Amino acid sequence: MTPPTIGVVCMDDRPKLDPHAPRYGQNQSYVHAVARAGAAPLLIPLLAGEALLRALYDRIDGLLLPGGEDVHPNQYGEPVHDRCGKISDLRDGVELALIQWAMADHKPLLAICRGIQVLNVALGGSLYQDIQAQVPQAGEHNCHASHARNQVAHDVAVAADSRLAYLVGTDRLPVNSFHHQAVKDVALGLVITARAPDGIVEAVEGDGRPFLLGVQWHPEEMAADDVRAQRLFDALVEACQ
Ligand code: MN
Repeated sequence: MTPPTIGVVCMDDRPKLDPHAPRYGQNQSYVHAVARAGAAPLLIPLLAGEALLRALYDRIDGLLLPGGEDVHPNQYGEPVHDRCGKISDLRDGVELALIQWAMADHKPLLAICRGIQVLNVALGGSLYQDIQAQVPQAGEHNCHASHARNQVAHDVAVAADSRLAYLVGTDRLPVNSFHHQAVKDVALGLVITARAPDGIVEAVEGDGRPFLLGVQWHPEEMAADDVRAQRLFDALVEACQ
């Protein structure tokens, strides 16, 4: 059987060393997690024209939305907060189109970090633009400077009977945390299936979809040594077969 193909959206990257040579790329950890699951990763560059983007979309069996820039608050009807981070209108446009197409076709979709955020916005939800500023009682979720990429930052409480609980086999999962934004109002059609101890939303799932899962942590960074993280990628690929 031919292995399925998983689309992995690129970031809008301006390398610090060479800012005049912008590039489309993505962290190797996503590519390797997909490959370990037995699928062929296809990096999707940020094409502004829908026809060419659609040509790539038509070649993928499933979609992976990785971490990255902040979604433009205009997309959920809010002015830009002064703690909102770097924005890419180009990436917003690409991912919003891919999500609409994948929802219409019931293509399996795994959304990670920015992914869960853009998924929620695409379906009509909203975001906290900065957890620290807007949810002051929340714990630390932005561990870029303090934690290794695979280092546990907090637990999440996983909802019983959820797809996530089935996949990870526990109701309390230790996760890493590299985000300063989070789901605020959850979109219609998504169900919250994990929260951090402070109440911050850490996972959402679709109702009755073949595979629609968003997580706020970075399983791709833990997946090489942690079967519960790799299971999310395995399940995405299984849903494509
Ligand atoms: Mn977190």
